[in-house]
Order: sequence, then C-alpha cells, then structure tokens
Amino acid sequence: MSFRIEPFTDEYTLYLRDESRLTGAADFICFPTCEDDVQEALAFARTHGLCVTTQGGRTGLAAGCVPRGGLILNLSRIDRILSVETEGDTVLLRVQPGVLLVNLRKYVASLRREYGPLFFPPDPTETTASIGGMTACNASGARTYAYGAMRRHVEGLRMILADGRTVSLRRGQQKADGRRLHLRCDDGSVLDATLPSYRMPAVKNASGYYIEENMDAVDLFVGSDGTLGVVTEALLRLTDLPAEIWETGCLFRTERDALDFTDMLRRSCGRLASIEYFDAGALQVLKNRKARDRALRGITDVPDDATSLIFAEIHAPSKDEAFDELRKLTSCLKACGGDPDRTWFGWNPAGIVRFKDFRHAVPESVNLLIDERRKTDPAVTKLGTDMSVEDRDLRRVFAMYREGLAETGLQSATWGHIGNNHVHVNILPRNMDDYRRGKQLYAGWAQQVSAMGGAVSAEHGVGKLKAAFLETMYGPAAIEEMRALKRAFDPRFLLDPGNLFVV
Ligand SMILES: Cc1cc2nc3c(=O)[nH]c(=O)nc-3n(C[C@H](O)[C@H](O)[C@H](O)COP(=O)(O)OP(=O)(O)OC[C@H]3O[C@@H](n4cnc5c(N)ncnc54)[C@H](O)[C@@H]3O)c2cc1C
Repeated sequence: MSFRIEPFTDEYTLYLRDESRLTGAADFICFPTCEDDVQEALAFARTHGLCVTTQGGRTGLAAGCVPRGGLILNLSRIDRILSVETEGDTVLLRVQPGVLLVNLRKYVASLRREYGPLFFPPDPTETTASIGGMTACNASGARTYAYGAMRRHVEGLRMILADGRTVSLRRGQQKADGRRLHLRCDDGSVLDATLPSYRMPAVKNASGYYIEENMDAVDLFVGSDGTLGVVTEALLRLTDLPAEIWETGCLFRTERDALDFTDMLRRSCGRLASIEYFDAGALQVLKNRKARDRALRGITDVPDDATSLIFAEIHAPSKDEAFDELRKLTSCLKACGGDPDRTWFGWNPAGIVRFKDFRHAVPESVNLLIDERRKTDPAVTKLGTDMSVEDRDLRRVFAMYREGLAETGLQSATWGHIGNNHVHVNILPRNMDDYRRGKQLYAGWAQQVSAMGGAVSAEHGVGKLKAAFLETMYGPAAIEEMRALKRAFDPRFLLDPGNLFVV
C-alpha cells in the first residue's frame, strides 16, 4: 500500500494521547514504513507550515508524543531489526525506531546459540515502549542502578533533521570542540551549533539536553525529547547475560527501615542490578485493585503489617557468588529490622516473572484508579514525580515528600528506583481541588530538588508536562541557551512543539 498522509479523523483518537492520559489535537496523521516516507512526511509539514509530533509506542508518561495540532508522525510501522554486527567481543543490533522492547528481547534471546546469552539492559517496565521513544527519553528503569540508562547502550544513530538532511552517527566519530558542535550531515554540509554552558547534575538525569565539553554527538540526540530530529535507526550494544539472576523481595514495618536498608545495600553489596521500592500507599492501591480484578489473582499478596517493600536483584557470574551476595543482603536485612523468613525469592525465569508482574501491576493499578476518577472529573490526571537526588539527600527528599503529603492530606502511591535515589511519588487526586493542590505541591518539590542539585526528570523525559520544571532546574538563561540550540537544528520549531519549552 502506498504511503498516505491522512486528514485526522475520530478513527485515530487513540493517537491523541499517551500513558500520561493527557489528550492533544491533530490535523493530519501518517504511518511511514520506511525512511523515504518519513522524508515525505517532513516535506509535507514544511510545505504546509505544520508542526510534527513523533510517536513511538505512546507509553510515555510526560506527554512527549501528545500532539499540539499539525501532523502526527507515528513510527510504529518502521519496526524491523536490520542486522546483527560484531565489533571484537561486542554484539550490536541495528534496528528501526518502531521496534518494541518486547520484540527486541525475543530477538536477543534467539541469538543465544550463535552469540551466547545476551541481554539489553534498559528496562522501562512497559515492554511496548519503542526503541525510538526510549532513545528520545533516555529511558532507564530498574537495572539502571548497575547498567546505566539508554545512553550507555546506544552506539550509533541515524537521524532525519527538520530540514530533511540526514545524519549518520557512530559513537566516537563526531565530537564537539569544547562547547561548539560542527555536525557533519550525510550530504557533506555542516550544521554549526553552540552547546549550552550549564553543567549536568551528578544524579540520574533525563532533563533537557545532555551537555558536556567535547561531547559525542550521539549523546546530544539521546534524551532530546524528539526536539532535534527523528531517529530512523539505532545501533544498540548488547550485554552478556549474567549466569545467575536472583530476585529478592524484602518486607519492612517502617519506611525508615527501608531507607536504612537501601543505604546498607549500597555500601555492602556489589552485585546488585537494581534496588526498587514500594511504599504503603502503592501496596494499598494494588491490594484494592486485586480484590476486584480477577486478572491480578496471581500477584503475590503482601502481609498487612508490611508498609514498605524492597526488591533487590542480584546479577552474578556463578551460584557461589550469588549465594555470597545473598548472605550479605540477608545480614543487611536483619540489621534493618527485616525478617529473612518472610522474604520472597526468585532464582529462575519462572520465579522472576512474579516480581516483574508485581512491578508492572502497581503502576497499572494506579492508572486504572485514575481512569475511574476521570469519569467524574475528566481533567484529573495522576501527578507522577520523576525526580532524583544524590545519595546524601535520600532521607532529606523523603522527609520533604512525607511532610508535603501529610500537610495537604493528598492520597499518594510511591514506588521506583530507590537505589538511584529516584522514586516516583504519584499524587492521586480525588477531584479537581486535589489536582490543583497537588500541582502546587509538586512545583514546590521541584524547586527544593533543584536546590539540592537534583534532576526534575530522571528517566521519563521532560515532554510537555515538566517543561516548567526544566526552567526551575536550570534557570531562564540556560533555557534560552537550549532554545538557541534547538533553533540551530529546527529554526521553525516544527519538531515536537511543547516538549522541553513552555510555549
Ligand atoms: C506502566 C509504565 C511504567 C513505566 N516505567 C518506566 C520506567 O521504569 N523507566 C522509564 O524510563 N520509563 C518508564 N515508563 C515510560 C515509558 O515507557 C518510556 O518513557 C519510554 O521510553 C517511551 O517509549 P515510547 O516508544 O512509548 O515513546 P512515546 O511515548 O511514543 O514517545 C516518547 C517521546 O519520544 C519521542 N519519540 C518517539 N519516537 C521517536 C523517534 N523515532 N525519534 C525521535 N523522537 C521520538 C516522542 O516524540 C516523545 O517525545 C513507564 C510507562 C508505563 C506506562
């Protein structure tokens, strides 16, 4: 079937939103199946002065792919795995942007016979995320604690810029000169840009453009929220799968014990891939949903007296080393008031699935709760934070969250990547009044986290929902520098308008 750019109709309503539940508007929509189609769509947009919103799996939580009018460029049908390449001992996969994480994983598993056991570490929980979207958000997830975010696993990119020029990048081949970038495009032309002068915070971060002196051009595009170009190909580095992957679920009676445990694990255990947290609010929302939803029957029950749960995943090269790590973990657990006899274990793929199902069921239950509330108040959405701080500020940031929630009486559910001092506090408004107060509370937290030297988005990207917080974090002068960088790539601000910058 030939490529078509269609006027937007109700048939496509689904494509006006992502998992943030924010809804946008569009005039046209298209589903390219190759790079030429993407070129045609961008040329159409330029000719008609339309802005373009790029979409992948639409699992984003920051409304990055929610359109603001113009053309929706949905890349879900450019979804082929192109080739397997090797470089020394490293195995690389060249893929198109619409490849979903779930399909990438299946393919990587199928390489076992030829290349040995491998995996792709970025794990944004939602496996219908696409590689293009994960690249644009610098997605991460639980295993980022040991393996880093998407950036660390992207070896090359092919991009189409707003004016139609293509750029083929391989890590190490195009670097900035200090804070000046002279980007060589495939047609031999050079795009000159000045990189902003701010310094990146020393925390897990997906807030605005990644900037460093003499940086690699690949790193500028990873995490750029779709504002600098369209990813049409990515070269991904695969990692050796550890021989032993064990999962533990540790229950605590108080949040303070769970925070102490996190600190002790970080000091004592060197083979942990992730340290994940679920608070009492999150456990309660899941429990309520489970009581009503037969689909969740298989999700593990949490005893009533447990108010905090920590999952810690061990990756080790042998059983002996995994046992050694488990011994260290158990002594941390005992020291922090935990009970090894009540701890959940999983040491094979079947056992580990129950942890994954649990982890996925928590945000899903929260989203369903909010969907119910939206029936009476359609403008209500969950207010999910995505902020990170340095290790030294873990307790301080928790005290800030608890104080704010207690003062306002707002309902919340908190979970996430506590090993990186990065939890998602989800304020769950019951009505529009709660929603307004929740937004104020969140804005205050963003100010305090910025003052601590933290990040306002650690993994979901800034999208449209956190554009104001980006200014809180870096200040107006830095935002102007980011705008100037955007202008060098996209003078008419056609790509992903509303992302990063308040318009
Ligand atoms: C239940 C649940 C749990 C989640 N947990 C995590 C988590 O733990 N960690 C985490 O990091 N994320 C998490 N997410 C968020 C989400 O999965 C990630 O943000 C993911 O990276 C988005 O990928 P996507 O393909 O859905 O992108 P989309 O939502 O379609 O788009 C996201 C952004 O990327 C841009 N984009 C998409 N494709 C391209 C392209 N080819 N070129 C340029 N720009 C593009 C879009 O314009 C938009 O700005 C979770 C989501 C859900 C629903």
